[in-house]
Amino acid sequence: MKISVIVPCYNEQEVLRETCRRIKDVLASNGLTDHEMLFVNDGSTDGTPLLLREFAERDRAVKVIHFSRNFGHEAATAAGIQHCSGDIAFLLDADLQDPPELIPEMIALWRKEKSNVVYGVRKSREGETFLKKLTSKLFYRFFNAISDVPFPIDTGDFRLIDHKVIAEFKRLGERKMYVRGLLTWVGFKQIPFFYERQKRFAGTTKYNYRKLLRLSFDIIFSFTKRPLKLALELGAASVIISLLLLLYAFVSRFIAPLPGWASTIIIIIFFGGVQLLTIGVIGEYIAIIFDEVKRRPQYIIDELMNLDAPVDKDRSNRR
Ligand code: UDP
Ligand code: MG
Repeated sequence: MKISVIVPCYNEQEVLRETCRRIKDVLASNGLTDHEMLFVNDGSTDGTPLLLREFAERDRAVKVIHFSRNFGHEAATAAGIQHCSGDIAFLLDADLQDPPELIPEMIALWRKEKSNVVYGVRKSREGETFLKKLTSKLFYRFFNAISDVPFPIDTGDFRLIDHKVIAEFKRLGERKMYVRGLLTWVGFKQIPFFYERQKRFAGTTKYNYRKLLRLSFDIIFSFTKRPLKLALELGAASVIISLLLLLYAFVSRFIAPLPGWASTIIIIIFFGGVQLLTIGVIGEYIAIIFDEVKRRPQYIIDELMNLDAPVDKDRSNRR
């Protein structure tokens, strides 16, 4: 059984040596000799490309995909899955927040449960701010309330996926991929694995609140059409409110006349708001369609190391 370990890297020079060593150690000490370590260099501007070059030259099991620029974490992870050739694959962050030492335990659970996915659930999240944990929880609660396919809470990318899931992922035709969402969406038997999420080994987080907010919107708009329905419901509600107001205005004409300008302004602002909100929601979906019809790839590869032919030739030409 061949094991792929997929690691997206963006400016991770402080941690990479340790990451590579720890992954290799755990694979070697558990007799998992048939393996590949697939690093995706997401347009790093520090010493990351050089380090990866060194690893790949020393060890043929280290494979590297260099992007032509920074395309983001999602694109890097997607590229890793699309190029992996293992029977099972692990998604791991470069910063060692998800300890590679858990790989054997996850394989054991995968075997025992005969599952297709073993996804890591964070029992605790060391070194993350209270605000980040709270907003993440609130977001998933909200998302699950409106989404058809609920996502597990406190789950990141850290997971084991087997060949069935890898094959389905490679067949997906979407341009913009939100990896962990799609890996939940494909279905099959998915089993949680509880673990303690560590502090970042070194370096700093590549996500800021602006990026996280953008990511949240992307998830909502690419996995559920509920906002469109909400817009419709909001429109219907405001029509009803305006009819009631009309009635009120008509009746009050005979009792105590309303001051004209205040009520007019309030109504104009209210409906202006409703209309802009609705247009905004439609706009988000049009933006997604726009991205898809352009058929631009999600990422561009500059160079492949120790990786001659991508597993699915047809797809690699298009992506
Ligand atoms: N990453 C990436 N491209 C980016 C941003 C991040 O490949 O544009 C990688 C990064 O190197 C790390 C993983 O994605 O391996 C998770 O990033 P980070 O640790 O900064 O996120 P956090 O754990 O703070 O959410
Ligand atoms: Mg991290």
